[in-house]
Amino acid sequence: MEFRVSDVKKWAGREETAQLVAAWPEEAQARADYPLIDPAVVDVVVRNAGGGTLIVQVSGQLKARALCSRCAEPFETSLPFEATEEFREEAGPHDESLDYSRFAGDAVVLDRMVSDAVGVSFPITLLCQPQCRGLCTNCGANWNLGPCDCQPQGDSRWAALENLFPDYVEWEREKNGRTKA
Ligand SMILES: [Zn+2]
Ligand SMILES: [Zn+2]
Repeated sequence: MEFRVSDVKKWAGREETAQLVAAWPEEAQARADYPLIDPAVVDVVVRNAGGGTLIVQVSGQLKARALCSRCAEPFETSLPFEATEEFREEAGPHDESLDYSRFAGDAVVLDRMVSDAVGVSFPITLLCQPQCRGLCTNCGANWNLGPCDCQPQGDSRWAALENLFPDYVEWEREKNGRTKA
């Protein structure tokens, strides 16, 4: 994935924009938490800041085949990504110790920059729907499809105890109530 800069690099202040549509770079697939769905649609803005320096912005909306963090069902998610980076026209391979990227010739290669942006765009929790009900911890039923036959566990345990030792259950409840308060 690259952007032709033969014109924009000619004079300071010049800016060019384009929308790139291509397969996701392998590096981006590797950095993503879930498989990315092709194609990558990336809006690119390149501005010549003078002195052989280009300011490159990439942004877009990625699509991925995710699994819900709560009910584990697969679903297609759409997440925004963006990044801004400085590129300088210099010979030599990429050097992680530099706080800018290098380019040589008439194109900036955007694979690493786009992959970094994709890598940080996944939130820790992804839900198939905001109100996902999740799974029953007892029988594993998906509560989005309807209730299961399990009793809420806490209730059934207390109910059984209460029949045998009503005073003890009463005392436990009071004690727990006080501890929490
Ligand atoms: Zn879910
Ligand atoms: Zn259940």
